[in-house]
Amino acid sequence: MDSKTLYAKAQTLMPGGVNSPLRACKYVNSEPVFIDRAEGAYMWDVEGRQYIDYVFSWGPMILGHQDPVVTEAAHKAVDMGSSYGAPCFGEVALAEEINKLIPSMEMMRMVSSGTEATMSALRLARGYTGRNKFVKFIGNYHGHADAFLAAAGSAAGVTPGTPGVPEEVVQHTLLAQYNDLDAVKAHFKESGDEIACIIVEPAAGNMGLVLPKEGFLQGLRDLCTEYGAVLIFDEVITGFRLALGGAQERYGITPDLTTLGKIIGGGFPVGCYGGKREIMEHMAPVGGVFQAGTLSGNPVAMAAGLATLQRLQECDYAAQEARTKALAEELTAIIAGKGQSVYLAQVGSAFTMYFSDKPVTSMVESGQCDAAAYATYWQQMLAQGVYLAPAGFECAFTSFAHTDEDFEKTLEAARNVTF
Ligand code: PMP
Repeated sequence: MDSKTLYAKAQTLMPGGVNSPLRACKYVNSEPVFIDRAEGAYMWDVEGRQYIDYVFSWGPMILGHQDPVVTEAAHKAVDMGSSYGAPCFGEVALAEEINKLIPSMEMMRMVSSGTEATMSALRLARGYTGRNKFVKFIGNYHGHADAFLAAAGSAAGVTPGTPGVPEEVVQHTLLAQYNDLDAVKAHFKESGDEIACIIVEPAAGNMGLVLPKEGFLQGLRDLCTEYGAVLIFDEVITGFRLALGGAQERYGITPDLTTLGKIIGGGFPVGCYGGKREIMEHMAPVGGVFQAGTLSGNPVAMAAGLATLQRLQECDYAAQEARTKALAEELTAIIAGKGQSVYLAQVGSAFTMYFSDKPVTSMVESGQCDAAAYATYWQQMLAQGVYLAPAGFECAFTSFAHTDEDFEKTLEAARNVTF
């Protein structure tokens, strides 16, 4: 069945024909291609067309698709039974590996998605402090739990008013512009003894890539310490992407709690939250804060995640950053050479080339980018076999599986784009 037929059928069975809104490709005025299989840096659609992937399942597949070691680990795990609902070796092994690479995560809890990780971390911070309010940044996305759906990034930001989330549920969500430390200080000045936590993407990846300004993360750390609030780094994207030890290693700031997802599942549904022992011990069954999960610590996901983290320790992050930077800069030069205004943000193996004539540092600016130009670029890149995120306000990711030839082909495709 071809993509068009599948999409028509899918639309009768699933809202918008998809299981996650961005996949419908509305923001690039297109219809989705349906994927048949993926290997290395490539995906193939149901009609057999090959794409060089820069989405990688929105981040998890940093080693490329079907990394042989990860795939073998997953196969072996399936052969041992795919779910127990009881403690198993894999969850201890993965937790130990995460703790080794991100030492601030002294204790942790495995869940099945990034959404569950952030939602549970917020509950824990509230339970631990006995406070209700929390600070969230405009344009940061922390999954789709109610409390976070206030001025959220990614596709949530473009759903006006977010129907289904009662006012009362977000009344404790205090908003601030990303990188605006003064706004956060003002919240603490007004209600510091009621604020349970600050949750932040240490490098924001859901309004396009926006990097933290010098002193911003340290300022958040200092405020939390001063007021006895919990600092939560949402490293669902940045964990094992910006560095092996995540953004906290790269920027040298230690949060109290960290949330992870994506890469730690090696392509399987996993999330994780963890941090200071003293805080984590407030979780049931030790403490009173409740959270549970039928598939939490799933043995197949744990095995794939562990194999991924082990493989990543053999990878050269510095070299990957350098080649990603070179690719992104060349791409930007090519598009700028066609008379388009573009602004590049890049860190590690992630970048966003905004169609903007000014730097993008906030969700408002991200929203002001030329969406029509991005759609034109996206459509023509796809037609030439380059698979980019179907919205201009997302990141492109490179993987350790991309070859220099893949990058050259990508640049060649960009050279052929006409606006
Ligand atoms: N936090 C961040 C920073 C994210 O980017 C995402 C997903 N893109 C989430 C949380 C939610 O993760 P999930 O989609 O696995 O629920």
